[in-house]
Amino acid sequence: MSESTGKTVDYRKPELTVIVNPFTGRVRVQVNPLYIMGRYRKMVRGIPQSKWICTKCRGRGCPKCNWTGKMYPESVEELIAGPVLRFTQGEDTSFHSAGREDVDARMLGDGRPFIIEVKKPKRRRIDLTALEEAINEEAEGKIEVSGLHLVGKDMVRRLKRMEGAEKIYRVIVEFERAISDGEIDRIKRTFTNTKIAQRTPLRVLHRRADRVREKYIYETDVKRLAQNRVEMRIRCQGGLYVKELVTGDEGRTRPSVSEVVKAKATPLELDVLDIIME
Ligand SMILES: [Zn+2]
Repeated sequence: MSESTGKTVDYRKPELTVIVNPFTGRVRVQVNPLYIMGRYRKMVRGIPQSKWICTKCRGRGCPKCNWTGKMYPESVEELIAGPVLRFTQGEDTSFHSAGREDVDARMLGDGRPFIIEVKKPKRRRIDLTALEEAINEEAEGKIEVSGLHLVGKDMVRRLKRMEGAEKIYRVIVEFERAISDGEIDRIKRTFTNTKIAQRTPLRVLHRRADRVREKYIYETDVKRLAQNRVEMRIRCQGGLYVKELVTGDEGRTRPSVSEVVKAKATPLELDVLDIIME
C-alpha cells in the first residue's frame, strides 16, 4: 500500500488503520486521534478546567444555566479546543491533565501539563507555533498555553500519574481574630516536614470516595498581611486539598491551620504557583 499511495508506514504509531475483514471483504478505515501536549497557565479566577455541564438540566438548557447547558460560559478546555479543532479539522476533543485546580484558583508558574486529544482529525501536519499563538490571542489573557508538541497515546497515562507531583501553593488566610507572631511561628513549624491526614473534603464527597489520604508538606512559609490576615506558601505533595488544610473541614483534615491557632480560618484566595516535574 505504501507504494501505491506514496506514504510511509509507521506500524507502531499509525495515523490511519485500515481494517479488512477477510470473511466479508469489508474495509473499514479508522482515523486515529491526534494528541497535542503542552502546559497551560490560568491567569484569572472563575474558569473551570473542563466544560461543566449544568447540574440541573444536564446540558439540555434551562433558566439556571441561561439556556447554555453549562455552569460556566467558558473553560480552559474550551478555550484550547476551539482553535485546535479549527487547525486540525477534527470532530471532537477530550482534555487530559495532570490534576486540576479549583475554579476560583489561578494556575501560575510554568503552568499545568495537559494533553488535548483530537478525534478524527483531517489535518495532522499543523503549525503548532501558529496554533499556540491563536489559542493565546483568542483567550485574551485569561489562559495561556506553551510548549505545544505532538505525543503518542501512551503519554495520556503517564500524564495522569504526574498528578502526585510536588506543588507550590499560595493561599491568603483570614482569621476571625488578630493573631500573634508566636502563632504565625507555630503555623510555620507545624506545617513544615509533616504529614497531613485528610478525609475526602465535604465539598467533593459527592464525586469522590470517602477515605483518608495522607499528604506530605515539605515546607510552609507564612507572611503577615494584616492583624488577622496572612499569606501562606506551601510546598507539598500533589493532591493536598489546601482550602481544607486552612479550615480543617469540620475536623476531617488534621492538623489544620484553624486547629493550630484555635480560631476560625478562611482561605480568601488560592493560587497554584508551580508544579514541579521530575
Ligand atoms: Zn441548565
